[in-house]
Amino acid sequence: MMHFTCDLCGKELHPGEDEHYVVKIEAFSAQDPNQLVESDLDDDHMEAVSALLQELEDADADVELPEVSQHLRYDLCCECHRRFLRDPLGKEQQHKLFFSKN
Ligand SMILES: [Zn+2]
Repeated sequence: MMHFTCDLCGKELHPGEDEHYVVKIEAFSAQDPNQLVESDLDDDHMEAVSALLQELEDADADVELPEVSQHLRYDLCCECHRRFLRDPLGKEQQHKLFFSKN
């Protein structure tokens, strides 16, 4: 039987009894050279872009790219899920920690 605990508060989640939420986050570099941005589509830049693309094609295809994207998955209880949606990046939490006197 699958056993889950909330990744935030550690509460045990019993399938069918507790509400169980899954949060998936994908984090990746916005600077993907293979992805054209709008300014690249300008006529003035077309030549430079195609030259760049040609360069990329000519480059050794076996070169390993660094890990650019990260997939994160969290299991959350009902309460933590609600808290997460209210503050997905934990900004509130950081703020509190920053001003904590402990
Ligand atoms: Zn929780």
